[in-house]
Parts: sequence; structure tokens; C-alpha cells
Amino acid sequence: MPPRRTALVTGSTSGIGHGIAEALARAGCDIVLNGFGDAAAIERERASIAQATGVKVRYENADMSKPADIEAMMKRVGEVDVLVNNAGIQHVAPIESFPPEKWDAILAINLSAAFHATRLAIPGMKARKWGRIVNIASAHGLIASPFKSAYVAAKHGLVGLTRTVALEVAEDGITANAICPGYVLTPLVKAQIPDQARTHGMSEDEVVQKVMLAEQPTRRFIEIGEIAALAVYLASDAAKSITGAALSIDGGWTAH
Ligand code: NAD
Repeated sequence: MPPRRTALVTGSTSGIGHGIAEALARAGCDIVLNGFGDAAAIERERASIAQATGVKVRYENADMSKPADIEAMMKRVGEVDVLVNNAGIQHVAPIESFPPEKWDAILAINLSAAFHATRLAIPGMKARKWGRIVNIASAHGLIASPFKSAYVAAKHGLVGLTRTVALEVAEDGITANAICPGYVLTPLVKAQIPDQARTHGMSEDEVVQKVMLAEQPTRRFIEIGEIAALAVYLASDAAKSITGAALSIDGGWTAH
């Protein structure tokens, strides 16, 4: 039997992170959930994953934009064997009217939070000679789209951080990889449809068809379960030689 491992998934109260946390629980990891939301709903979700899978599931309310919160969470959690840096936000606006406070928040949550969680998780992983870091980047970690300056900059940064960490810990039994999804219909994407419609001067339906799915040759959204399955694989022993990779799961978008 492999040792029971603990997985921390940031931003796992919704969307992709929630799907990854559930899948890692089914794969036998104890889980630390994190993210915002209604306290009673989060508690119901925590209990339901624990009950369905038999693993330990706890919740940490750290605000990932705050390094002090991240440090306190990492101290409380202790050993983290699988770190999934997933928490993320988006804002869509032309560069000249992009609110500086949105730039700061996106860089803090989508990039700096991964730096802080990683630097704090690595010493324990090195001591145990095993670790998995899975960064949820984006197709926008590899290519750009207009009106997403902060997001594209942060996700490109996250891919660069992934590669650097992979090189530093390659001999310690630790891998670091980035998953680069195309569009997944989560609350993060649903919320940007009205903004995109305004910015592009289109209807919301046109944004879905002509902006989002036009990028994806498969012409459909990626499903959360597809990303969760890849994260579980990257967290497994079988993936021990995959490191420093930026793995696209984007319906062919970046093959263009
Ligand atoms: P989502 O909005 O459904 O979930 C985001 C999660 O992050 C939530 O749990 C939220 O509470 C949490 N979060 C936000 N700010 C936080 C903070 N300051 N501290 C702690 N938690 C915080 O979004 P999603 O679509 O599931 O996105 C998850 C990740 O996947 C993000 O990094 C996003 O950039 C990336 N991604 C999403 C898509 C997509 O199409 N949905 C595509 C590529 C990459």
C-alpha cells in the first residue's frame, strides 16, 4: 500500500478546483479544501466528500491574495504531498482602462499565491523525498487573447514558475507541472461572458460561439472531469518522470 497522502487544492469550493479535490479524494488522498463561499454550503460539501470517499477532508479559509494567510494555512496543515495551485480570478478590460487594483489582485491570486504555497510546501516534500505540484495555468499561459492583460501575464508567469521549480527539485522525487485548460464552463467563465459581450460589442451568445468556442477546434467546452483526471494522473507515482511540462487540455486551441 502506498502511504496515505495529503492534497491541498486551493480554490476548491467551486469549479475546477472542486472537481480536482473530489477526484483526488476518490484516488485516496486526504484533502484540504480552500476557497470562498457560504460556510454552511462548504461544510456540507466537505462532509459529503468525506462520506463518499472515506478520506479525511478539512477546510482552510485562507485568502490566497494574502501571504500571511497562506503561511498560517501551511503551518496548520503541516505535510502537503500534493499541492494543487488552482485558485484564480479573471477580469476582462482593455489595457488602458484595466483597473490597477484588478491587476494587483490577479497577480496576487493567480501567480504569487502559487509561489508562496510552493516555497512553503517544498521543504516537507524534500524531507519525504516525494511531492507533486500541479499548477492550474491556462491556454492563456501559452498564448494571449486581447483584454486579458493581467490574466495572461499571471498565467505565463505561472508556467515559468512551474518550469523553474521543476528544475530545482528534479532530484528530490518532486515533480511540478502546469495544466493549461481551454474554456471550461465554470462560474469564472460564466461571469466573464457579459463583460466580453460589452468589450467586443457582441451578444452573450455570440461571445460563446465566436470568441470562446471559436478558439477550440472541438467546438465544445472542456469538462471539469477531464482536468481532474489529468491532475490525478500527474499526482500518481506513474507520472514521476513528467516534470516541468505545460500540458494543454484545450480541444486543440493551441495547435492553431
Ligand atoms: P471558479 O470561479 O469556479 O473557482 C475559483 C475558486 O478560487 C473558487 O473556489 C474561489 O472561492 C477561489 N478563490 C478566488 N479567490 C480566492 C482567494 N483570494 N483566496 C482563496 N480562494 C480564492 O473558477 P474556475 O474556472 O474553476 O477556475 C479555477 C482555475 O482554473 C483558475 O486558476 C482559472 O484561471 C483556471 N482556468 C479556468 C478556465 C476556465 O475556462 N474556467 C480555463 C483555464 C484555466
